[in-house]
Amino acid sequence: MARMLSANFSLEELCKSQQATRRDIDNGLREPADAPLIANLERVCRRILQPVRDHFGTPFTPSSGYRCLALNRAIGSKDGSQHVRGEAADFEVPGVANAELAFWIRDNLEYDQLILEFYTPGDPTSGWVHCSIVESGNRRDQLTINRSGTLPGLVP
Ligand SMILES: [Zn+2]
Repeated sequence: MARMLSANFSLEELCKSQQATRRDIDNGLREPADAPLIANLERVCRRILQPVRDHFGTPFTPSSGYRCLALNRAIGSKDGSQHVRGEAADFEVPGVANAELAFWIRDNLEYDQLILEFYTPGDPTSGWVHCSIVESGNRRDQLTINRSGTLPGLVP
């Protein structure tokens, strides 16, 4: 039985990682020891992923959710990444341009940081959206990251 964190998202899929599998890294979370991290992931599911799923009506699974420190370092991400705390997910919705997805989140959801990553205008499937949420004090920070660097705001 999958441990569901919201109607359509399970703990297992928020921890699943091709990179972890390839590198034989255990990226799983278990109760009760990991309850605080699981609570963070549940917030990401209930307040970001599930509303996106319900609005666009299309099934999707995040490409990256939780990352243990070993996995996060193995892929070259900074130790302070919100993925390590279970506060962020990277995802795309089939049939929805990633810029459109980012704009919808910006306009409809509470979030801490929203990043449109490596999106190329004219290529709807390019890149992905990173979105995080924390318990309180969400910053509503928006960034665009592409080959030119990091830009403030959503500027596809
Ligand atoms: Zn991310």
